[in-house]
Amino acid sequence: MAKSALERIRRAAGKAIGDFNLIEAGDRIAVGVSGGKDSLALMLVLEELRKRAPIRYELIGVTIDPAFPGFPAAAIGAFLALRGLAFYIEKTDIAAVLEAKLRPGSSPCSFCARLRRGILYTTAERLGCNKVALGHHLDDFIETLLLNQFFSGTLAAMSPRMLADNGRQTVIRPFFTVEEQEVSRLVQEEGVPVFENPCPARVEDQKRLRIKKLIEELRAEIPYLKESLLHALQNVQPRHLADGRLWRNEP
Ligand code: SF4
Repeated sequence: MAKSALERIRRAAGKAIGDFNLIEAGDRIAVGVSGGKDSLALMLVLEELRKRAPIRYELIGVTIDPAFPGFPAAAIGAFLALRGLAFYIEKTDIAAVLEAKLRPGSSPCSFCARLRRGILYTTAERLGCNKVALGHHLDDFIETLLLNQFFSGTLAAMSPRMLADNGRQTVIRPFFTVEEQEVSRLVQEEGVPVFENPCPARVEDQKRLRIKKLIEELRAEIPYLKESLLHALQNVQPRHLADGRLWRNEP
């Protein structure tokens, strides 16, 4: 019988966790749950893995409620409770801060993302969590790799395991090798409700959409494109790059 998306993703995430030592005995992990498909799928997959793991660790879903009118914090909590998952909702005043600080016409998104990330780390620390798990998947990794090269002049993507900006927690991304399409299949097969973000400033990121389209167009000619980009992220050859800091041992 064909495996379900949940089983396939569980295997892929399990392998990434093993390869990058993402989860260790005694960990208490805050899973960032925005209510979107990626974060809800991550919560379900990590719980499936936890139930089968030979080591003991704890999970707690953490939702940062930005207080936009209509933000579905209660519905997200109700879904997690229905699945027997521990969760915590952090009420914030992000909506008011954005309104007060931003000039008309400017995009609030990067400021908002920094605020939410900071609050997520602080909340996780207060809840006694040593790790924060995020739902970024393979498509996020390779889109970020290309976005940084095309628009920011940087050769960088994301890491499956890194120290948080506050220097105190470890951020893990167990969906490093999982395609977004697989996450969508899981959500459908498992009947996971996906909650819309009611942020009044919400606009599609046009640059990311363009990169997504480009990747799809190129895949018609290069079917293994995503696998190759994933491999590239794990096969850096500093001698064949032009950043002088790499051979002068500078930060
Ligand atoms: S769309 Fe809204 S919630 Fe999302 S990053 Fe932008 S301001 Fe923040």
